[in-house]
Amino acid sequence: MKKPLVEHCDRLHIRDVKAAIPQNAVEVTLEVGAQTICVVGKITNLGNGYRYFFVCSRCERLYETLYRADLGWFKCRNCIGLVYCSTRKKQVELGQYEYGQRINHQGDSRLQA
Ligand SMILES: [Zn+2]
Repeated sequence: MKKPLVEHCDRLHIRDVKAAIPQNAVEVTLEVGAQTICVVGKITNLGNGYRYFFVCSRCERLYETLYRADLGWFKCRNCIGLVYCSTRKKQVELGQYEYGQRINHQGDSRLQA
């Protein structure tokens, strides 16, 4: 199956919701459309405030950016299985993949064009 490209997904960055996070909150749940997303605050290395991260609803790891493909739930890019356009292009150049499919070296007419 073809993996979605980062460039084709909705992206939600933590700065997009910063206004909704109360100052010095340690944990907040935000309503984003129909989805409830948990945000946690981590004290910065300088100890002068909090840095906020989304908690991926699937793997529960912390991310500054979540993605959504086909109007599904926002998840981290690992859980959605996103690849960057540049990564796929590199694979094509190396002759490993063509639009997400392995090249058939026996001669596949679809790939000759
Ligand atoms: Zn995840």
